[in-house]
Amino acid sequence: MISKFTSALFSLGLSLSITSTAIAQATTTGNAPAILARKQVPILCYHQIRDWKPTDKKVDKDYIIPIAAFKAHLKMLADSGYHTILPDQLYDYLTKGTPLPSKPIMLTFDDTDLDQFVVARPEMKKYGFKGVFFIMTVSIGKVKHYMSAAQIKQLSDEGNVIGSHTWNHSNFKKFQGKDWETQLDKPTKKLEEITGKPIKYFAFPFGLWNSQGLPELHKRGFKLAFQLADKRDPNDPLLTVRRILDSGYWTVKSLSNAMHQSFSK
Ligand SMILES: [Zn+2]
Repeated sequence: MISKFTSALFSLGLSLSITSTAIAQATTTGNAPAILARKQVPILCYHQIRDWKPTDKKVDKDYIIPIAAFKAHLKMLADSGYHTILPDQLYDYLTKGTPLPSKPIMLTFDDTDLDQFVVARPEMKKYGFKGVFFIMTVSIGKVKHYMSAAQIKQLSDEGNVIGSHTWNHSNFKKFQGKDWETQLDKPTKKLEEITGKPIKYFAFPFGLWNSQGLPELHKRGFKLAFQLADKRDPNDPLLTVRRILDSGYWTVKSLSNAMHQSFSK
């Protein structure tokens, strides 16, 4: 029964991806200047959400936001009237100018960390916020501090979006040959099996990307891909959407300043 369901799902997914590839290519080549001209939506990126330990190195702390800071940052966003949006909304806004809610923001979470389920999920629920969870499939349920397939499905069922973050978090710039299958095709298949939904969004491990690799994402029907805060590819802004890391060193004021500064460029 399961295999019948998944094969139906994948033939559906295949036809969807062929259609969306054609659309994405047409849109990207045709409208890149228009997309680049639109006001950017602030997008925040989180990894671990836990209190710092004495063994955490300074460089690692950019990827670990203490629980109290995370809670304060979300509260500031809610109190300031921000509304979380999801990638389908961002895609329609960028490609067609579809209006967004007032003060839009996107919250994204990388690397499958369990804290995202245990700490971020209930905190987001308080404010009616939804987010995007980019999963590296190698870690699913493998080690204690990663999310299980059931938790990923629950996030998806509750209205959050699940995206791909490759199989094992390798550098996208170095992908060649079989890597495309291992790092893109198989993780997509796995995440579609878990969620029962097509996987249309991708985040580059370490935020690293190169223009040469972007056609491989188009070919597979990815509609948007997310990097960190580098300049977008002038020919392919949809596959180089910018995000900033919400630092655990920041006060609510520094977060607010960083959002305005980084996304007004
Ligand atoms: Zn990552």
